[in-house]
Amino acid sequence: MNVTLIPGDGIGPSITDATVRLLEASGASITWDRQLAGMAAVSAVGDPIPDATLESIRRTTLALKGPLETPSGKGFRSINVALRQEFDLFANVRPAKTVLSGLRFTDVDIVLVRENTEGLYIGIENYIKIGDDKMAAAQSMAVVTRFGAERIVRYAFEYAVSHGRKKVTLVHKANILKYSQGLFLAVGRAVATEYAGRLLVEERIVDACAMELVMRPERFDVIVTTNLFGDILSDLTSGLVGGLGLTPGANIGKSAAIFEAVHGTAPDIAGKGVANPTALMLAACQLLDHAGEGARAARVKQAIETTLRERRRVTADVGGTATTLQYTDAVIAALGRGG
Ligand code: NAD
Repeated sequence: MNVTLIPGDGIGPSITDATVRLLEASGASITWDRQLAGMAAVSAVGDPIPDATLESIRRTTLALKGPLETPSGKGFRSINVALRQEFDLFANVRPAKTVLSGLRFTDVDIVLVRENTEGLYIGIENYIKIGDDKMAAAQSMAVVTRFGAERIVRYAFEYAVSHGRKKVTLVHKANILKYSQGLFLAVGRAVATEYAGRLLVEERIVDACAMELVMRPERFDVIVTTNLFGDILSDLTSGLVGGLGLTPGANIGKSAAIFEAVHGTAPDIAGKGVANPTALMLAACQLLDHAGEGARAARVKQAIETTLRERRRVTADVGGTATTLQYTDAVIAALGRGG
């Protein structure tokens, strides 16, 4: 299969190298098309999202992507958001599952499905000038469409049915944002009726959901929510299972899919060789699954989980002393032993 590979910024190149090595060791037949995006692309060609990268994804329809740096509060718009909108990658699937022992929770297994193209991330923002102050006020618009809400909720319910899940929680803030969140909830309730008898359905207001996730995460199964809430809650669910180094994310559309880690460029540890590549490795498993290589994905995942459980050669973020390279060698060795 042909896959666009975007190493990205910060720890991106080191975790993508580790992931490519692991996939090669798994025997996956992948032709990589290496492309640039983010600050790496700005330095090389003066454009954070070069046409060649977009053309490559259009051709391969599959990409494995390292994190991309986005300047906060100024500069260009997030390339991640732009890629999701360009390819209409409406579903962001972010699983968080306990593998490590010794954590506060022993059996978290949550799949968070985040709407990925609408809501507050639609990019309609402006300042309002009052008197001499050009930035006296600012507004950002949250746009929820019936079409967008319906397709993400339906995606989450279909995902739940096809993955043997039992329950879907609709997470919203319709008590305050009666229009945008109210529409999401109304559409969610309507779609839910079609799955009556097959799946349990519950509703949570996002703030109460955050509290309950921290107190009793075991009672959640599949969560579906709007863009901003999904962004925030998926970092929270990462924390429940050992941190951002462990959780992958698939951005799925009808004509393309991009697989990445939930985490960012980790500037505080970039260049030190200590980043945990697990999240991107698990994203690569999502890619294999998506491409119909479920058995290979399961073997690779098993090797990752065995290495994490043994805890002899894990990275510092999960309590070890191994470098990215040493951990990757250990996962490849576990794969060689059959997982
Ligand atoms: P971050 O996720 O990069 O880092 C948060 C903390 O988690 C840091 O302490 C970091 O060291 C740690 N961490 C993250 N990934 C790790 C890993 N694999 N191994 C070990 N430790 C890890 O979040 P941030 O600092 O808020 O963001 C940095 C940059 O990343 C920003 O420019 C932001 O826009 C960007 N970002 C990109 C993506 C993406 O490309 N999908 C996602 C989130 C943030």
